[in-house]
Amino acid sequence: MEFDVIVVGGGPAGLSAAIRLRQQAIAAGNDEFMVCVVEKGSEFGAHILSGAVIEPRALDELIPDWKEKGAPLNVPAIEDRVYMLGSETKATKLMDSVVPALMHNDGNYIVSLGNVVRWLAEQAEELEVMMFPGFPAADILYNDDGSVKGILTGDMGVAADGEEKPSFEPGYELLAKYTIFSEGSRGHLGKRLISRFGLDNDSDPQHYGIGLKELWDIDPAKHEEGVVLHGSGWPLSDTGSSGGWWLYHAENNQVSFGMVIDLSYSNPYMSPFDEMQ
Ligand SMILES: Cc1cc2nc3c(=O)[nH]c(=O)nc-3n(C[C@H](O)[C@H](O)[C@H](O)COP(=O)(O)OP(=O)(O)OC[C@H]3O[C@@H](n4cnc5c(N)ncnc54)[C@H](O)[C@@H]3O)c2cc1C
Repeated sequence: MEFDVIVVGGGPAGLSAAIRLRQQAIAAGNDEFMVCVVEKGSEFGAHILSGAVIEPRALDELIPDWKEKGAPLNVPAIEDRVYMLGSETKATKLMDSVVPALMHNDGNYIVSLGNVVRWLAEQAEELEVMMFPGFPAADILYNDDGSVKGILTGDMGVAADGEEKPSFEPGYELLAKYTIFSEGSRGHLGKRLISRFGLDNDSDPQHYGIGLKELWDIDPAKHEEGVVLHGSGWPLSDTGSSGGWWLYHAENNQVSFGMVIDLSYSNPYMSPFDEMQ
């Protein structure tokens, strides 16, 4: 199958790119310009797990009337609180003046990024982007001159032992003038492209942390919709490690809770999950 542009990965980046391309094509009177998005999740948003505070500036530019179109940005961030935890019972709330600017969330929204992505997918569909959920891009196809000519989607109907089931269907070759790889931060095709084309030659090495997150239903009496908490210190400081945590009070008495731990910790027995609990 041939397209003008293939987008690999229907996250915020891929869907925004597809939407923008179709907006520009339609504005230029080129309605035939074909953009497709392949997404490995069974539906758009299925593999997007981040409960997030987002800054809406990019959305303002992409879809200025997002409010009228029902974008699920329903909870404005109303207050930031940043704590340094000293122990299980002691915490110091940092004064606003010493909180770094990027932790001030005035004008931002607490969202379910999965819901935002589902909504972006609807906007893309309205612009007649061809949407392929449930299709992982498994390999990159190259032209004779070494440039990318498209992707191969994964085979369907393969059993866990690698045998072909009766429902077996081989992957499709999807070809395009341009292929946009937006698989997220550790895409397996992205890693191959980075190494083949030396895309990281002038970059610092990629760095990593361990991130854990949960979505909690909490006692409504304790819920403060719109409040954004961040912090650091205990319990990680007791384990010779560092990192930080967040609690975002979202809609429906839910709180997005998570912790990120730097990989420089020296105690190999430290259990990030247990520390988070
Ligand atoms: C724990 C955590 C908390 C975060 N909190 C915030 C926050 O509060 N505010 C904020 O602004 N940002 C936050 N982020 C960052 C934000 O989630 C990312 O910047 C954003 O999701 C990146 O979008 P993306 O489209 O590049 O990639 P992703 O969101 O990773 O989307 C990639 C998509 O591509 C699909 N895909 C991957 N490989 C393939 C393939 N080969 N074939 C087909 N499909 C494929 C995936 O299934 C996925 O749907 C957080 C991230 C994490 C991990």
